[in-house]
Amino acid sequence: MSDFDVVVIGGGNAALCAALAAAEKGASVALIERAPEEKRGGNSRFTGGGFRMVHHGVQDIKRVVPDLSDADIARTDFGEYTREAYLDDLGRVTQYYIDPDLAETLVENSTDTVHWLMGRGVKFLPNYGRQAYNHEGRFKFFGGVVIYANGGGAGLVESEYKAATKHGITVRYGARATAIVRGGSSVEGVKILLDGIEQEIKAKAVVLACGGFESSREMRARYLGPGWDMAKVRGTRYNTGDGIRMALDIGAQSYGQWSGAHAVAWERYASDYGDVDGQHSAGYRHSYPFGLMVNANGERFVDEGADFRNYTYAKYGRAVLEQPSSYAWQVFDAQVLPLLRDEYKMRGATKVRADSLEELVNKMQDVNAAGFLRTVSDYNAAVKRDVKFDPNSRDGKCTVGLALNKSNWANTIEMAPFEAYSVGCGITFTFGGLKIDPQAHVLDIEDMPIPGLFAAGELVGGLFYFNYPGSAGLMAGAVFGRIAGGSAGEFALAP
Ligand SMILES: Cc1cc2nc3c(=O)[nH]c(=O)nc-3n(C[C@H](O)[C@H](O)[C@H](O)COP(=O)(O)OP(=O)(O)OC[C@H]3O[C@@H](n4cnc5c(N)ncnc54)[C@H](O)[C@@H]3O)c2cc1C
Repeated sequence: MSDFDVVVIGGGNAALCAALAAAEKGASVALIERAPEEKRGGNSRFTGGGFRMVHHGVQDIKRVVPDLSDADIARTDFGEYTREAYLDDLGRVTQYYIDPDLAETLVENSTDTVHWLMGRGVKFLPNYGRQAYNHEGRFKFFGGVVIYANGGGAGLVESEYKAATKHGITVRYGARATAIVRGGSSVEGVKILLDGIEQEIKAKAVVLACGGFESSREMRARYLGPGWDMAKVRGTRYNTGDGIRMALDIGAQSYGQWSGAHAVAWERYASDYGDVDGQHSAGYRHSYPFGLMVNANGERFVDEGADFRNYTYAKYGRAVLEQPSSYAWQVFDAQVLPLLRDEYKMRGATKVRADSLEELVNKMQDVNAAGFLRTVSDYNAAVKRDVKFDPNSRDGKCTVGLALNKSNWANTIEMAPFEAYSVGCGITFTFGGLKIDPQAHVLDIEDMPIPGLFAAGELVGGLFYFNYPGSAGLMAGAVFGRIAGGSAGEFALAP
């Protein structure tokens, strides 16, 4: 006798989508969230709520944002984001390692899943300011992302928990899943630790949606490599790889890039983990395409303007980690200060400001001053001054002749006041995990489904390698969560 038809492990976006979809199949569902209720929601709750979906311009955006005003429409170029462009982006940023079946499943289901979320109470808005700048009175969306969930990640998760309550889903907080119970022919439930006491929950199907291993220092050092134990965790402290380990223990196949992670340039002195109650978003340092990044030697080490932020930020955390002593400084001048994201102005930023570059680098005490001044002077001399700056497009305003050129948005750094911000590496989530098929069955090493076991979200391997296109994480969690829940519901209710 099962306690529930389906048990879902995890309490973030992927788990909630799975739980809702399973309940909609008619299954009785329990959701097991390791965090206490007040910290529920995983990394999903920390997000800005951005979703990357296929769309063909204003008509499609209006379907998702029904109260889009005529004034907004008049001042905005939403562009379009075709399935081909989405697949190209996924292929390009992952160096074509992405599992093509998973890529197609994500892309083909993206728009429909956004509509499905709307039907469950999630409201979406256009992401002005972050995905489109006000440039000469007009907004132009760039980088494949237009919408975000109202209220960001917190709003998204809140709406999803509300829907879960409406669907009669049982939620257990502060409950850590520790093992999958495998019976003779299929999965039969999970073991959990609740208030220090081990219990077993019997179920006909189990969905794992409990995140990657980014919050385990030990696993970071073991799989990502030396130095990664020192990275700051941007989000939840509860994702310590449990779901991956539990599945491997019963024969699941490891898949994807276990040495890879989404990691960004992040406030250098941020706390070790994110804190949903604090100013967790203060750590963002995503405006580097408009400035320079230098290391302790005062040298640049990435092409800050290689592409839109959406396509570079997730790999530049690793680049910072690999610098001497794993820090860097982002440097801006007066020409671009108004474009810096709000987080640069928040309390807690390690920031210096000066009226000359000499004074600035004196304040950046751990940077080689001569090296820095040489870098900026060489850079300024290499800037193509006759190309117009445009933050909403790859403007081709570049440097010429440097060993490491800047490809776009290469304004000179010469107009006072100057500001510099110190950054370290902030890890978001890990790329390696379990192998699933497009129906979200967890596969064993012979590529056969483990009966009754499904997975979605960050613990799925095979989607992201080396890099990641911004706002694909929530979309993937929702698409595969919905599929996993539906598959689990059907499996559990099959005669
Ligand atoms: C600061 C920040 C900003 C981001 N911004 C965006 C964005 O705008 N757009 C986007 O697409 N992505 C964004 N991301 C990435 C995004 O958070 C993830 O891709 C996505 O949330 C993953 O969802 P998930 O449900 O798989 O994992 P999570 O939301 O992390 O959920 C995992 C859940 O599992 C629970 N758990 C862990 N172990 C156990 C266990 N043993 N038993 C029970 N429960 C367990 C955790 O408590 C948690 O509730 C951002 C991430 C961060 C940190």
